[in-house]
Amino acid sequence: VNINENMNIVIVGHVDHGKSTIIGRLLADTNSLPQGKLEQVKETCRRNAKPFEYAFLLDALKDEQAQGITIDAARVFFKTQKRKYIIIDAPGHIEFLKNMVTGAARAEAALLVIDAKEGVRENSKRHGYLLSMLGIKQVVVLINKMDLVDYRQERYEEIVEEYKTFLSEIGVEAESFIPISGFMGENIASSSDKMPWYHGRTVLEKLDGLENKEDVKDQVFRMPVQGIYKFTANGDDRRIIAGTIDTGKITVEDEVIFYPSGKKSKVKSVERFHAAKMDEDIAGSATGFTLEEQIYITRGELACIAGENPPEVSTQIKTKLFWLGKEDLNNKRDYYLKLGTQKVKAELQEVVTVLDASTLSKTERQYVQRHEVAEVVFKLEKAIAFDKAENSTETSRFVLIDNYEISGGGIIVDSLKSQEGLL
Ligand code: GDP
Repeated sequence: VNINENMNIVIVGHVDHGKSTIIGRLLADTNSLPQGKLEQVKETCRRNAKPFEYAFLLDALKDEQAQGITIDAARVFFKTQKRKYIIIDAPGHIEFLKNMVTGAARAEAALLVIDAKEGVRENSKRHGYLLSMLGIKQVVVLINKMDLVDYRQERYEEIVEEYKTFLSEIGVEAESFIPISGFMGENIASSSDKMPWYHGRTVLEKLDGLENKEDVKDQVFRMPVQGIYKFTANGDDRRIIAGTIDTGKITVEDEVIFYPSGKKSKVKSVERFHAAKMDEDIAGSATGFTLEEQIYITRGELACIAGENPPEVSTQIKTKLFWLGKEDLNNKRDYYLKLGTQKVKAELQEVVTVLDASTLSKTERQYVQRHEVAEVVFKLEKAIAFDKAENSTETSRFVLIDNYEISGGGIIVDSLKSQEGLL
């Protein structure tokens, strides 16, 4: 295994369609479980006279984490011949959005689980929509519980057909579909002889064949400023601008421009801290740099490099969003929009289109209800720096806070009122 190659995948699907079971299988079949864990869980089941389930493995790992021992609740790891995978288990829409948008975890691919017996549910569609909106293009659809439909090809194809039609309506091309049984371990790590009609890859083969992150270091430099840390070294007062690089790279002598303020200075030194928490932690390494001049900047600005494509800076944005709030999104309330490390008050100005994320039926009105997808315009209290979704998935994603709760998220598709005169 190339220990340097990590790939983040998110797993989504309607509740009970088999996510935990599939994760448990993937961990067990790739020998990625802590030693003795499988036996221990099986033993517990025996003692309690209940049948063993792979889903219990995940629960057990999470419990352990709760006691502060080994594992991150939202993420589990497994490795194949090719690389290490980090599975981001997103129990609900909100957790999923939070993970994606706060940058704690950025998935290069997604596994979307559909129960072969139950078929496509509203959430199967909503999740698909969410993935496409967040710019996750590699989606592998797992038709699970094939054992419950006698491994019938017709049933599999029926679901594939239905889901494909939905995806094409929202402009997504599914990477692939795989008929599996998480419970029985069919087509997960090895080809199933129960489904000789299926000639495609197993889940693991498929994952190993996916493309890893497009080379983000070749893109323009973007780093949301997380904080400015002052300290004294050798009698010198120094200030480190810290954050996590979204894209691109930074080198000593680069001229950095901060947006929206437009302040700039040359990079004097680049420093990097490694969070020693876990060797596989992807979000673990943060970067910092010092500047030649002591300019005053604050958390929330977007650090860019002069000469590269500048970001958009605006107080009015057109977005595509997924609304999950208990209350409707309307123009009577104030929201907070969070993008990178920026947080700004936002007011709904116009609803351009609104549609149900699972039925795709359109409605015309000036508010947005839970589980709807909408194209809306926001007016912001002050300018923010960002990129349009067509240029970057990282710096165009945002979440909306309504009354302290994440209530929606999406991407910025256009900048309506640019701030001139920054350069
Ligand atoms: P989650 O809510 O998506 O994480 O679903 P779970 O993994 O907890 O599974 C829900 C139920 O479906 C559990 O009782 C599993 O044992 C069962 N299940 C999961 N995968 C399969 C499968 O491939 N075949 C069968 N027969 N049952 C399954």
